[in-house]
Amino acid sequence: MPAENPSTAALTAEIHAWEAAGASSAEALSTWVGARLAAHEAALAALLSVEGLRTADNSLRFYDLAIEQLNLAGAQAGVLNSVAADKAVRDQAQQEARRVAQAGSALSLNRPVYEALTAIDLNGASPATRHYIQRTLLGYRLAGVDKDEVIRGNLQRLNERATRLSLEFSRNIQEGAKMIEAAPSELDGLPEDYLARHPPDTEGRVLLSTDQPEMQPVMTFAASAALRERMFLAYNTRAYPANKEILEALLATRQEIASVLGFRSWADLATADQMMGSAANVRAFLAKLNEASLDGASREHKSILAFARRRQPGLEAIDSASRAYWFEQFRRSAFDFDSQSVRPYFPYSQVEAGVLSTAARLFNVEFHRSNTPAWHPAVSVFEVLDGGRHVGRFYLDMHPREGKDKWFSAAPIVTGVHGRVLPEAALICNFPGGEVGEPGLLQYNDVVTFFHEFGHLMHAILGGETEWAGISGFAAEGDFIEVPSQMLEEFFRDEKLIQAFARHYQTGETLPSETIKKMKLAGAFGRADWVRTQLYYTTLSLDLHDRDPSGLDLDRITKQLHEALQPWTWVEGNRMYTSFGHLTGYSSNYYTYAFDKVIALDFFAQFDSKDLLGCDAGSRYRKTVLEQGGSKPGRQMVRDFLGRDEEFRAFSSWLNEEFEEEAINFKILLI
Ligand SMILES: [Zn+2]
Repeated sequence: MPAENPSTAALTAEIHAWEAAGASSAEALSTWVGARLAAHEAALAALLSVEGLRTADNSLRFYDLAIEQLNLAGAQAGVLNSVAADKAVRDQAQQEARRVAQAGSALSLNRPVYEALTAIDLNGASPATRHYIQRTLLGYRLAGVDKDEVIRGNLQRLNERATRLSLEFSRNIQEGAKMIEAAPSELDGLPEDYLARHPPDTEGRVLLSTDQPEMQPVMTFAASAALRERMFLAYNTRAYPANKEILEALLATRQEIASVLGFRSWADLATADQMMGSAANVRAFLAKLNEASLDGASREHKSILAFARRRQPGLEAIDSASRAYWFEQFRRSAFDFDSQSVRPYFPYSQVEAGVLSTAARLFNVEFHRSNTPAWHPAVSVFEVLDGGRHVGRFYLDMHPREGKDKWFSAAPIVTGVHGRVLPEAALICNFPGGEVGEPGLLQYNDVVTFFHEFGHLMHAILGGETEWAGISGFAAEGDFIEVPSQMLEEFFRDEKLIQAFARHYQTGETLPSETIKKMKLAGAFGRADWVRTQLYYTTLSLDLHDRDPSGLDLDRITKQLHEALQPWTWVEGNRMYTSFGHLTGYSSNYYTYAFDKVIALDFFAQFDSKDLLGCDAGSRYRKTVLEQGGSKPGRQMVRDFLGRDEEFRAFSSWLNEEFEEEAINFKILLI
């Protein structure tokens, strides 16, 4: 690969992998990533060749260009691994993602680069620049850059192994769809449009896949307990047994990395540069979470069990495979609310328009449809304008497709740099709809998910005008990253905002206020249970990484924790740990969701509930939090916006929210 001149112009050329010469071929992708990595190397060489006094301007600049190229290559290899239509391109993208991760791992142990950054004179540097350098140097020390050469070589091999195992683990989940057979009679309770999409075959069987849009309605609505259990087991074993061995190897590799670096456990290492700071702090947080949610969750479980026993005398207990179903039945009955009844008010295209217009008003920006080509014709592209100024671009790839990642996520495409590179990001989701003539009716939770992912997207875009690529967009601590997403979710509880877009797809009728009240009440019921589920996942993610994993029995620990933290009966044969995809990205730090929920709710409480979009909290939040990207510590952003540290108060009242008199009226229906 010929070395490129690390000038700004050369480095920002060819910003989209899918537009590279030869477009969608695996070979073109490889060439494109190769060019980014060559530019990365060239920038590092330029950094090392600086003579005399090192300054941010003559040294950090080259380091940051190297990071920019690495981010670009890593982001797009990652996205194409999830979305490319051609399997050959996805396979290639996976290999390229590995190549980029290897370059990242090599950089994290590059002693000359570390020494060059250490030598930078910080006199007169901006606070963001200081923070960037200090955080980068901490990262270097946590990677083991100060160890001798043999140990560094060993660490590099271990990091590469961990990356390879993580990618295989995710890929097995992504491609591990299973099919189950159902008799038509077992589909009782499922919505009409679902039944219409799944007619019996010539032998009278209905085939259902474990993909989200086929799985979720079965778990929520199918009256047949046998069908729910088959679907639950198929879904939770879709990457079993392959991922069991991979996870064991991954945990062993991570523990070895931690030991080599002098940490007791991977969890201590993985939290050292986070807001949380240590595994012990995570445990202290989990104890608070346990205390805050125990009574509420127990009340919820008792109500559901008593209800289910009235419906089905002789029922002893409710297992995990039936939890969602009984929750749904209970909500319908107790709150006179059927979540099916609101789906016609949430056709995909209206929800999209509603989420976009809410965000546009909240953050005072405009979104315009764009002709910029994406990786697939099904993707819509939008340009983001702020007072007429072009500040970013995003891609919405929102419906399932053969071979596409089955999850819901926001991903960076290009990390922005002030005045030089426009930030770009994408949502990769699997909402119903997308086919001609199919309205794509969303469930309540789907709409919440849309707001959530859009919160991430706005963080990537509005945080994309920082001074350096390395502190742009999502670059805050990993355990701050779910604050903007969970904050935006809360906006879906506002009646005025909901009514601005929730209109019946056939009649045009606005979703009635009465229904919204019931929907919110029904939605509030089950929050404590949700927190317990988070507590279970979080404790599992921590426990797997906070001990010596040799001899660890994954099946046993998964079941034990479930029994300790969940009121629902364990389903034998559940191998959820093989499809718990967050174990690769979050590793021990899945606590992020619950921790950030506490912060997000405290943030949301700063908004005027009577005028969410009109009050000044939106612009303050944009400025003190989103626009900062990673240019200051998360702790500082919390203090800048709240004027203090986060507290549990808003979280606790959210957890025990009662809609006063309405709640009393609706509860009468329980009897
Ligand atoms: Zn999220």
